[in-house]
Amino acid sequence: MNILIVDDKPANLLALRKILVKPGLDIIEATSGNDALALLLKYDFALILLDVQMPDMDGFETAEIIRGNEETKSIPIIFVTAISKEQKYIFEGYEKGAVDYLFKPLDPDILQGKVNVFLELHGQKEALKKINTKLKMANKRILEQQETLIEEERVKVLLQMAGAKAYELNQPLAFLVEDIELMGEIKGNPKKTVECINRMKVSGQKLSDIITNINTLHYSKPTQSNKDSTAVASSLDREINILVVDDTKDVLEVLKAFFADQDLIKLSWAGNFKASFAMLKQEPFDMVFLNHILSEGTSIEYLRDIDKEDIGTPVIVVTEHGDEMLASHVIQMGAYEYLPRSRINSESLLRVLNNTLERASLRKDVEKAHAKMAEMSTVDELTKLYNRRYFIDALDGEFERANRYEMDMALIMLDLDYFKKVNDTYGHPAGDMVLSDVGGILKKHIRRSDLACRYGGEEFAVILPNVSKESIYSAYERFREMVSKQTFKSESKLFHITVSVGIAFSNDAESANDLLAHADQALYQAKESGRNRVVIFKVKEAQDN
Ligand code: GH3
Ligand code: MG
Ligand code: MG
Repeated sequence: MNILIVDDKPANLLALRKILVKPGLDIIEATSGNDALALLLKYDFALILLDVQMPDMDGFETAEIIRGNEETKSIPIIFVTAISKEQKYIFEGYEKGAVDYLFKPLDPDILQGKVNVFLELHGQKEALKKINTKLKMANKRILEQQETLIEEERVKVLLQMAGAKAYELNQPLAFLVEDIELMGEIKGNPKKTVECINRMKVSGQKLSDIITNINTLHYSKPTQSNKDSTAVASSLDREINILVVDDTKDVLEVLKAFFADQDLIKLSWAGNFKASFAMLKQEPFDMVFLNHILSEGTSIEYLRDIDKEDIGTPVIVVTEHGDEMLASHVIQMGAYEYLPRSRINSESLLRVLNNTLERASLRKDVEKAHAKMAEMSTVDELTKLYNRRYFIDALDGEFERANRYEMDMALIMLDLDYFKKVNDTYGHPAGDMVLSDVGGILKKHIRRSDLACRYGGEEFAVILPNVSKESIYSAYERFREMVSKQTFKSESKLFHITVSVGIAFSNDAESANDLLAHADQALYQAKESGRNRVVIFKVKEAQDN
């Protein structure tokens, strides 16, 4: 630490140095006010001992200049003076605590005592400064991490949405390719050519619908972060609803004072955890200002409880002086921001308000995207086949199409045999692996224009537009055999499974539902007659039953 001693008489400087000298302390001397000012530009001082009576510029004038400079104004000054104690009034107007005085002749004990107090104070200030910078850096890192996470999430959602759409394009595209091939074969047959063109029109329309859908698929970019906090006040374009949670109304009063001229800011108050949760559930609040210390517990407990209550309202924790160490902890617990009470002013409040609103809207965007994603999803996660919802939609469309163009369409239902036993014997994850593998075999087995889906837990279904009745039995007989020959492995145990298959044709059915019921009946028969087999639904048999 550096200390500056200023006196026009070298003998006085020497005397001061003798009293003050101690390890870790650098004593730097100046013999005039001007000297002192020059040294202040060069070094950081913890304290200045300033002689009052000096030629040219006296101690008070020197102090005035020191006070006037932003860099040096908070360095404590002790005047060393021979002026009598009655002239103490001279010190009025100086900032309290930053100034003291000593009278000549100097008492070494008093001098040492006072100097030590100031040096200690300076040490504490420096330590606090260091902690605060560290904290600020930690907070910045946390905020940055959160932002990166949200951004990654956003990109992930977008990619998934795009992927789902691309997958949807597959089927009409396959139809189109198939019909183009067919055109070559049926050259010279005008009736079939017209049919084919009509089908191609339908596929084209489907493709166009999906592409229109992709074009309207957008994910609004979050509003540019507004770093200029003063611009925020004017950008508040709606009412901001703030709930203050505190067992006294102190924080509320402070906020009220600062937001007095902000018509769009509405402040409410809750005196305890429970009341606040009830209010947050009833009314949409934009944020909570929470006093860190409450009679029920600290903000740490509040943040834990609000999470349990499943309330997502952003929380800003107002800390008391000296609670700064809590800041990063509180933010890790889920608080959006923390604000030391001593640093509440209109600028910090608006900055916090703006950041909170911005982050909350970003979070909402991500949630919306997730919901949209789930709603749009057409793919089963485990098997990557189409899911049941997509399948049901497609079934109606394909049935209608088959009827209109007088094509024969088939529906196949497949159910794994004794699958419960697989789970029971080898565990659920092994069961999942089997499902995913069977899904893979099925996907490889089907034609390009067929549509395979996971219909339920261990049930699959395939829509086959435009099939020949003759070939389908043998095709699925082959599939059944493939599954039964597949060796599965769980830990070191090897096992096999079988599948039962039911097939129905659209020209035996009145509606898509009818077709579904027929395929189901055929599957039931396959199960009943011993499993591991393929059964084709027959109208006659159904009437006999
Ligand atoms: P059946 O030959 O009559 O079809 O007998 P089963 O045991 O296959 O039929 P059941 O309908 O009694 O049981 C189906 C089982 O499939 C029950 C359930 O635990 C299991 N299952 C359903 N979905 C999943 C899944 O996603 N993963 C796993 N591992 N198992 C599933
Ligand atoms: Mg089964
Ligand atoms: Mg089943």
